[in-house]
Amino acid sequence: MTSQNAGGGNAILVINAGSSSLKFSVFRESGAGGLRVTINGQISGIGTEPKFEAKDAAKNPLAERVWAAGEPSDRTALLAFLLEWIEGRLDGAKLLAAGHRVVHGGTRHAAPVLLTPAVMEELESFIPLAPLHQPHNLAAIRALAEAHPELPQVACFDTAFHRGQPWQSQMFAIPRELTDEGVRRYGFHGLSYEYIARRLPELAPELADGRVVVAHLGSGASMCAIHAGRSVDSTMGFTALDGLPMGTRCGNIDPGVLIYLMRQKGMGADAIEKLLYNKSGLLGVSGLSNDMRALLDSEDPHAEEAVELFCFRIAKETGALAASMGGIDALVFTAGIGERSAPVRARVGDKLAWLGVILDPAANEANGPLISAPNSRIPVYVIPTDEEQMIALHSRKALETA
Ligand code: ADP
Repeated sequence: MTSQNAGGGNAILVINAGSSSLKFSVFRESGAGGLRVTINGQISGIGTEPKFEAKDAAKNPLAERVWAAGEPSDRTALLAFLLEWIEGRLDGAKLLAAGHRVVHGGTRHAAPVLLTPAVMEELESFIPLAPLHQPHNLAAIRALAEAHPELPQVACFDTAFHRGQPWQSQMFAIPRELTDEGVRRYGFHGLSYEYIARRLPELAPELADGRVVVAHLGSGASMCAIHAGRSVDSTMGFTALDGLPMGTRCGNIDPGVLIYLMRQKGMGADAIEKLLYNKSGLLGVSGLSNDMRALLDSEDPHAEEAVELFCFRIAKETGALAASMGGIDALVFTAGIGERSAPVRARVGDKLAWLGVILDPAANEANGPLISAPNSRIPVYVIPTDEEQMIALHSRKALETA
């Protein structure tokens, strides 16, 4: 038992479940209503050779476990183990709830929701809208409910923050019956944008009511127009495939390309899905890697093209999102590339010189938080995102208001 865990209080477990891995964090209450992370970890290899790893807040290893062949290691068994392991480290604290990142909340859920069998049934109906993520998010919830039926569970949606967007931002120009059945722009990375919308006014109170473009540049990448703390428009649409090119996803593409692939290449839905989700983006253009660091280090002209295309599209979308808000008062970079890649930010900054953006090279190298020069027409910030913190805060609130 570590001394940092001493002192009782409440705890929240945060879960982000994928197809074969499950990331988790444990948050503890820390005075003045705050929550701080005390444990991070993951179970990888679910369905093949599960492996559990956990670290404390300073990234020191706490525990590891692999499951021997023949040992029960389905999701329910893994989550039962995880809960037991966590409860052994709570030092008298009460585990209030498990908060899950759930990719799709449909059109109805503009806020997190306490899970009940009826809500689960509704969330299952969104599987066709997000077949690569939603089933795995829900499988973890079901497995945990089986292992620990008494533990309240909360779903926090990647789509929720965008639900207040004007209709023009949410609608495709397609026959209305398709819109009515749910073929519309949802927007994703909402938990990240919501965190940034809360954090930015702490750094710059004058921007609380401002028009802010946020670039979430991770292995998945998107951008969002936020006006007075609310999402107005976003680059991701019906799925997390739209908008910017990403590590392996194509981003915005002429739908005529899909028809071409079907007609001329005889490709079916599965092959097209694989091409657009797994073989495109930085990887497809460079032919080398989906990792921005490898591309920036490479001398290969195709690596350079991948980086350039990524930055070009970020600059272009900044203009589009500014137009959605009738102007722009600040630009924010976040997530893996946004938080750590000064060269990418510098390139985007150069391409936005027409907008009066001037970066301060030293501040940019130091990763901010303010990276624009005093004579820049708009301030530019780097703000590390924290989707897990957002889920923990939401989960606690959902319990209080239930
Ligand atoms: P995810 O979307 O999976 O949560 P992250 O936000 O952690 O991803 O971002 C991961 C990506 O960030 C990696 O694929 C890598 O390309 C990029 N990245 C991380 N550190 C750096 C860095 N120092 N310079 C450039 N890119 C980086």
